[in-house]
Amino acid sequence: MKVAFPYFGYDTIALKNFLEMLGAEVVLPPLPTERTLSLGTKYSPELICLPFKITLGNFIEALEAGADTLFMAAGARKCRFGYYHFIQETILKQIDNNVDFYPISQYTPFEFIFQKMPKIFSVSPARVMKSINFLLAHSRLIENFRKLVRQARVIDFTLASIHEKHALEIIADAINLMQIRKARKEIKALFNFADDLPENIIKVGLVGEIYLMLEPFANHDIEKELGKMGVLVLNNRSLYRHIKHLLHIDFDRIKLNHRAYKYLKESPGGEALNTVGEARTFIKNGVDGIIHIFPFTCMPENIALEALQKMSDDYSVPILSLSIDEHTSKIGLLTRLEAFIDILKRVKNQKAVSRVPRSSLLTPH
Ligand code: SF4
Repeated sequence: MKVAFPYFGYDTIALKNFLEMLGAEVVLPPLPTERTLSLGTKYSPELICLPFKITLGNFIEALEAGADTLFMAAGARKCRFGYYHFIQETILKQIDNNVDFYPISQYTPFEFIFQKMPKIFSVSPARVMKSINFLLAHSRLIENFRKLVRQARVIDFTLASIHEKHALEIIADAINLMQIRKARKEIKALFNFADDLPENIIKVGLVGEIYLMLEPFANHDIEKELGKMGVLVLNNRSLYRHIKHLLHIDFDRIKLNHRAYKYLKESPGGEALNTVGEARTFIKNGVDGIIHIFPFTCMPENIALEALQKMSDDYSVPILSLSIDEHTSKIGLLTRLEAFIDILKRVKNQKAVSRVPRSSLLTPH
């Protein structure tokens, strides 16, 4: 059995190790490229959202690389994610009729632990639980690394890129809990040059649809591009938090839903409530602006967009909404980011000037 699954940003490493702990031979497709996207787009319904197209492209390239068993997360049917796996399986069976395709329902953890995984991999539920425990620890390590590398990029982008490669090797080599503890210390030491950030730094909170927030190919490497501009990006979405949510142990979600409530009372599906709750939290914690990123035609995030516009008016915090599809050009995206950051800098300078007491502005030097 040669197993594959779609890329999920840095967390791909944790998912790969998780499947290997269950005894799978994992065949990762090549890193996503324009070819991945054009293959996915060619076989997809035209108006389906971007994550479907990229993940389908990943699957096709995984089949080319020799995979015969594919895993895809399956969601609730409030938005298209609930239907992804039906359509992808139909398309992939037309390409290779022998492929085994397993949708993994996100909202039935007990079935996952006690039935699905033990049956597919011929392992005990205890081994599945042990692997999930490791997945949690590994994805937490990755969450921590992502936070450190975002800070480091602001201080020294080149050095951060060099250390990023090294840190990713350390993360991939950590295959038990003791090694994870050791890896955490090593990674912290690698990025300790970025412990203290200048006070006047521009900070933006990134919110939106989870796949676009976590997969650099899908978001045109937005975090790195902002880091190059000297902007600190805050991004609270991660596989770690998502798994905790699915296991019903993410208590921060309750706070986020509470924060979102003034602007969005019910979940319209996807991550919309999270988007609104996180944006409000970022604003309350003093970010200079919010960047909202989501796939073109994403229904839940278009609803969140309305709520964010109202929030932007209430708090006078600029919000940039970026809707992304296969036609989005990186150059166009960068131009919009640069213009937005210029606005944030101007607003920050104006605020700083208005805070200076009038008397000191009038004092001759
Ligand atoms: S959340 Fe949006 S992008 Fe994701 S599957 Fe649903 S509609 Fe598509």
